Amino acid sequence: MNFELNDEQRQIRDTIRDVAQSEFAPRAHEIDETSRFPQENVDRLAELGFMGLPIPEAYGGAGADTVCYAITVEELAAACGSTALIYAAHVSLGASPFYLFGTEAQKHKHLPRLCSGGLGAFGLTEPHTGSDASNTKTVAEKRDGGWVLNGQKMWITNGALADTVICTARAVVDGVDRGVSCFVVERGMAGFTPGKNEPKMGLKGSVTSQLFLEDCFVPDENLLGEVGRGMRQMLTILDGGRISIGAMALGLGRAALEAAARYAHEREAFGRAIAGFQAVQWKLADCATQLDAARLLLYEAAALKDQGRRFTKEAAMAKLFASEAAEKACFESIQIHGGMGYSRELPVERYYRDNRLTEIGEGTSEILRHVIAREVLR
Ligand SMILES: Cc1cc2nc3c(=O)[nH]c(=O)nc-3n(C[C@H](O)[C@H](O)[C@H](O)COP(=O)(O)OP(=O)(O)OC[C@H]3O[C@@H](n4cnc5c(N)ncnc54)[C@H](O)[C@@H]3O)c2cc1C
Repeated sequence: MNFELNDEQRQIRDTIRDVAQSEFAPRAHEIDETSRFPQENVDRLAELGFMGLPIPEAYGGAGADTVCYAITVEELAAACGSTALIYAAHVSLGASPFYLFGTEAQKHKHLPRLCSGGLGAFGLTEPHTGSDASNTKTVAEKRDGGWVLNGQKMWITNGALADTVICTARAVVDGVDRGVSCFVVERGMAGFTPGKNEPKMGLKGSVTSQLFLEDCFVPDENLLGEVGRGMRQMLTILDGGRISIGAMALGLGRAALEAAARYAHEREAFGRAIAGFQAVQWKLADCATQLDAARLLLYEAAALKDQGRRFTKEAAMAKLFASEAAEKACFESIQIHGGMGYSRELPVERYYRDNRLTEIGEGTSEILRHVIAREVLR
């Protein structure tokens, strides 16, 4: 594809592709089979300066643009979906909110650690509220010098391992509900207990947990932004996060397509390579077209974000289109592999399982269609 990347974007792509393919891809199968958290991949990304890629250098990041970030997530996903999710949740949901909404003190306190190997997480979803996140049940009651949090979070990526989890909760002051607000919960705080790692269909190396908040006191300085602004903040965070989940789908879909093209050359049926059959060629053509279109939508959303322009619709479109394009690419890759596509010996069934999340997390495809329609009807 001939989208003109600038020198920095090309350099980042080449670096991360090399590391992801030579170091992360060879252990992706074992990570999936054993559901092992790939700490060595996180350490390597930290060593290379990728953990704070889009965070300004003043706070320990690399100050790269959002296209660089999307490229990085795509390359990680093409090698190891679990690593891509750990990374995307850390950067978009765990670290970026500090940069977007934090005070200078909060940025200087938390970002250098998050940019150098500490993990971040974002606790929005609860057992009874997902798509309707504004219905948050977790409560933060104002007390002298801080807030006391009570509630539960569900499906929180990196939640059990994170240094900081930004949790949404209803701020209650003198018995009055002042609206959803964001609070920084730090690992080891009394009353903050991660639950077990949820067994999942895919992305098994990532840790996804319930979090329990029982009379968990967080000091005033751990309120992120203003009281009652949590939903607005959350929507802004998710706009950015959708670019990374779209990029993750793109990487998984691309890996599936590349595997299918290789296999189509190798596998023979009826005396010829199956790549010679038009039925196989058309599958490859449709998937390649859709993945390239997805990449353009992602870069468009990323460029708008970097220009400081509104990108809610474009991010929703990019994630919706990329996740569905990747779903098709993974499905057709299995089909082109025939019986071998169904085998756990080859990675295509893993790509398929890993990609399924991209149509659910950070806005289901149904919710994204709502978002896009709302923007179209404005
Ligand atoms: C692996 C994994 C990692 C995750 N990581 C995080 C994380 O780090 N932080 C976090 O906060 N959350 C995380 N989540 C949660 C995720 O964002 C939610 O699962 C998702 O938003 C959907 O919410 P839900 O599961 O409650 O589904 P529900 O909201 O209950 O939806 C169920 C179904 O109903 C549909 N639906 C709901 N409302 C409507 C509507 N108005 N119109 C049409 N259809 C509708 C949905 O599209 C869906 O198909 C993660 C989830 C998974 C599986």
